[in-house]
Amino acid sequence: MPRPPLASWGQLPAVPAAHERWLSDRAAPLPAVAGSVLAYGNGRSYGDVGLNSGATLLHTRGMDRFIAFDEATGVLTCEAGVLLAEILDVFVPRGWFLPVTPGTRFVTVGGAIANDVHSKNHHRAGSFGGHVRRFELLRSDGSRRVCAPGENAEWFAATIGGLGLTGLITWVELSLKPISGVGITVASTRFTGLDEFFAVNTEAEARHEYTVAWIDCLAPTVRGIFMAGDHSAGQGQAAAARKALNFPLTPPFSLVNGLTLRAFNQAYYNRPVPAMSVVHYAPFFYPLDGILHWNRLYGRQGFYQYQFVLPMAARAALADVLRSISTSGQGSFLAVLKTFGDLSSPGLLSFPMPGVTLALDFPNRGAPTRALFDRLDAIVGEAGGRLYPAKDARMSGEFFRRSYPRLNEFLPFVDAKFSSDFARRVLL
Ligand SMILES: Cc1cc2nc3c(=O)[nH]c(=O)nc-3n(C[C@H](O)[C@H](O)[C@H](O)COP(=O)(O)OP(=O)(O)OC[C@H]3O[C@@H](n4cnc5c(N)ncnc54)[C@H](O)[C@@H]3O)c2cc1C
Repeated sequence: MPRPPLASWGQLPAVPAAHERWLSDRAAPLPAVAGSVLAYGNGRSYGDVGLNSGATLLHTRGMDRFIAFDEATGVLTCEAGVLLAEILDVFVPRGWFLPVTPGTRFVTVGGAIANDVHSKNHHRAGSFGGHVRRFELLRSDGSRRVCAPGENAEWFAATIGGLGLTGLITWVELSLKPISGVGITVASTRFTGLDEFFAVNTEAEARHEYTVAWIDCLAPTVRGIFMAGDHSAGQGQAAAARKALNFPLTPPFSLVNGLTLRAFNQAYYNRPVPAMSVVHYAPFFYPLDGILHWNRLYGRQGFYQYQFVLPMAARAALADVLRSISTSGQGSFLAVLKTFGDLSSPGLLSFPMPGVTLALDFPNRGAPTRALFDRLDAIVGEAGGRLYPAKDARMSGEFFRRSYPRLNEFLPFVDAKFSSDFARRVLL
């Protein structure tokens, strides 16, 4: 039996769920319980979209069966609790890959839909929901609906990026994409300053399927490493064979502080960066999956991830955000910078929009950390941007409602029996 989740990926102190139910039969009705329920995938959301304090969590990992696969088209039907890692293990050797994958493969298909996750190929492929052909939605009144762009389309749009609030997704039909091998050809380059980032990025997006940059926001002038990748027939096997390390316990205090951050960022920036290399897909897409439970490094108070997107026309506000972070003295490693392309997301509440997105991790230092986020919210909000619910644990309801303009279209589809800490914080 899995250990009850007491907190989400950010390990922020949280009230546990009062009850947990483990689902394994996709044809079974929802368990009859008092109070609200919420699907729990694999707990890789940083904040509280996957938490339901004092109520019931429905664990979906037991719904982990592959149902059908069409070798000719790459269309896979599977249960919603299947992990992206399980899809990769079975289908990469057969020449198929995920059309869109987040930065960890330990997420369920249901969780990937509920947050309409994005990847390093947003400029070419859009978000995860754009590759979902159909799914079944089970509601608390016992009704089951097959939802697709051409069938129950309004339910489809509400459930993709719907934060688990429209009901339980039981099975999913997803288009995989053909690949030539397990390798990724990676072109890497260092850059200094945001203007150089945007110049390198524009050129790279025209030629490469995957683009992303890591930035050191602690340096006096922003600097970083830009990576552009494409699937390759090359092997890059060595890295894949490496066994994942485990961070065994949660220390009482954060091991991440000004000193460790500065040292890490300096070392990362100065590491040898080959202009061109072929690596296995795993270290390219999932560098953090190599250390299991790396989130424990932040200690018992946990950490926040702050991820926002700004419309391209307001990209100048990015410099203001970085300046505020630098002035606050609260740094971040693993600041990931990426642009979103023009492909529109299918979900009413999908996070991506054309623009630039930045994700930063901050140890939870309490009031000073929250005060910094309030200042960042003001800049992001003023610029017409928004925060990513999958990473959030503290944005105000007012900010959420203002920055997700299709919220009123979404609300009629919320199942009255489904709720989450996030929903109670931002919707009520
Ligand atoms: C290291 C790391 C890197 C990441 N990188 C990215 C990235 O690059 N891009 C990105 O977009 N995200 C990224 N994420 C966030 C992650 O992809 C999402 O939070 C994802 O939704 C987590 O899926 P999960 O299965 O763990 O779901 P959970 O976190 O358990 O749940 C997430 C939401 O899905 C709902 N849900 C789960 N299953 C179902 C179901 N069957 N039916 C209905 N609702 C359901 C839950 O109720 C909840 O609202 C990253 C997370 C980590 C830890």
